[in-house]
Amino acid sequence: MSQQDLHELGVAELAARLAARDVSSVEVTQHFLARVQAEQLGAFLATNADVSLAQARAADARLAAGERSPLLGVPLAHKDVFVTRDFPTTAGSKMLENYRSPFDATVVSRLGVGQPGTQGGAGMVTLGKLNCDEFAMGSGNDNSAYKPVQNPWDLSRVPGGSSGGSAAAVAARLVPAATGTDTGGSIRQPASLTGITGIKPTYGRCSRYGMVAFASSLDQAGPMARSALDCALLLSAMAGPDPDRDSTSLDLPATDYAADLIAATAGRTGAAPLKGLRIGLPSQFFGAGCAPDVLAAVRGALSEFEKLGATLVDVSLPLTELSIPVYYVIAPAEASSNLSRFDGVRYGHRAANYSDLTDMYKKSRSEGFGDEATRRIMIGTYVLSHGYYDAYYLKAQKIRRLIAQDFQKAFSQCDIIAGPVSPTVAWKIGEKSDDPVANYLADIYTLSSSLAGLPGMSVPAGFGAGGLPVGLQLIGNYFKEGQLLGAAHQFQLATDWHQKAPEVSA
Ligand code: GLN
Repeated sequence: MSQQDLHELGVAELAARLAARDVSSVEVTQHFLARVQAEQLGAFLATNADVSLAQARAADARLAAGERSPLLGVPLAHKDVFVTRDFPTTAGSKMLENYRSPFDATVVSRLGVGQPGTQGGAGMVTLGKLNCDEFAMGSGNDNSAYKPVQNPWDLSRVPGGSSGGSAAAVAARLVPAATGTDTGGSIRQPASLTGITGIKPTYGRCSRYGMVAFASSLDQAGPMARSALDCALLLSAMAGPDPDRDSTSLDLPATDYAADLIAATAGRTGAAPLKGLRIGLPSQFFGAGCAPDVLAAVRGALSEFEKLGATLVDVSLPLTELSIPVYYVIAPAEASSNLSRFDGVRYGHRAANYSDLTDMYKKSRSEGFGDEATRRIMIGTYVLSHGYYDAYYLKAQKIRRLIAQDFQKAFSQCDIIAGPVSPTVAWKIGEKSDDPVANYLADIYTLSSSLAGLPGMSVPAGFGAGGLPVGLQLIGNYFKEGQLLGAAHQFQLATDWHQKAPEVSA
C-alpha cells in the first residue's frame, strides 16, 4: 500500500504500521490533516495543524524509544463536547463560541499523548474537534449553531446526530476513529446512518469529567470507528474509574477489550463461533414503525448471526413506546439544570448591551442558545416546577425504573437484544428541522436502553433505500460491552459491510 492510501487503514492496521516503523506518526498525521483541511462535509469545527503535528512528534518519540502500545501515534478527533486545552470547545453552541477549556476531559487525556512534560495516555494524535448538535441535542446534526453536516453517502442527507460530525468524518475516512457521546442514541444512530461501528458503554463505564453536560444521568462517552475491533481498542483506553472527578464512574478495573476479541477469535475459528449465544428480538422493535428496507437489512444480518451459531429468541419490551415521552421529560429536566450555568457571568456568551443584571442574564441566554436548547430548557423547567413535578418528572422516573426492569426480564431469556437502530435510513437535510417531534420519534429504538443505562452498539448491516447504510443495534446487559464487541467482531469477520466506503473525494 502506498502512502497515498493511508486513510484506507483502520486503527489496528495503522497502529501495526506505526509499530513496525513503516511510517511515522507525523507522516500519518500529515496525510489525514490534508484530508481534513480539504473536507466539505462540515464535519470539523476546529483544527490546528501545529498542535496535531507536535502531538505526532511526541508519539514518534515514544515509538522511537521502543514503546509499543496499541493506539500510539494513530490519529483521532473528538466530538466538540469533550473539553480540550489545545482546541476550542463549543458543544456546537454559540454560547461557547471560542471557549477554551483550561483542562482536558478525562477521555481526551486517556486517549491522548498528554501535555508536554506529562506522561501522557494511549498516545493518539488529535486532529481537531467535530461538529455536533448544540449541547448534543438532536438526531440530524441540524441543530449545530455553526453548520449542518452532510452524510458522505448522500450529501443531501443528514449523517444522524448528535455525533454527526464524528460519524461523517469516520465514514469519509477523514479520521480512522472519533469519540462520540450518547445520551439517547447519539453514538448509535449516526453510526447507523453512516455505515460505521459505534458503542455506547454501560452508563458510568467512561468518565464524564470534561464532557459538556446535557443529561447527567444518561450521558456516556464511547468510540466510533469502522470496526468492532477498532472500537474495542479505543474503549479499552477510554473506560475505567475516575473516582476523584466523576463519582458516577464505575469502580471496575480497566478491560482490554481488543485482547479479549483476539483471544476469542483465535480459539474459535472454523466452528460456529457464536454457538450458545441467544439473541433476543423484541417484537416492539420489528413492528410497522420500522421501514421495510431497514427491517430487511436487519433480518439479513440476524440470519448471518444464526449462521455463526447464535439462536434467535422472541422477547418483549412492552414499554418501548413510552421511552419517548419518558426520555423527553427526564433529559430536558436535567438539561435545564445543567444549562443554568450558562448565565453570561462565569463563562460563555455575554450580551453586549443590557440594562441590569436580570436583563444581562436574559439577553445572554436568549442570544447564546439556539431553538432546540431553548425548547428543552422550557420543557425541563416546566416538568420540574411545583405542581407539575409529580405529574411529569416523578412519573417519568417511575416508568424509567419499569423500563429497566423489562430489560432484566428479557435478559432472563437471552444474552443480547437486537433490532434496528433507526426506523429509517438517513433523511434529507432540512426535512425534520422544523418538526422537533419528528426528530424525537426517530429515537424510538435507542432511548429505552439509554434510560436503563445499558450498553448498546450499532454495527453496519447492509444498505436500504437509496443505497444508504443501515445499522444493526445490539444491546447488552450491564458491563457486557465485551460480549457486544465480541459478537460484532465475529459478524465482521464473516461480512464486509463495515468495510464499504462512500465515494466521496475529500
Ligand atoms: N436524539 C436524542 C436527543 O435529541 C439523543 C441525543 C443524544 O444522545 N445526545 O436528545
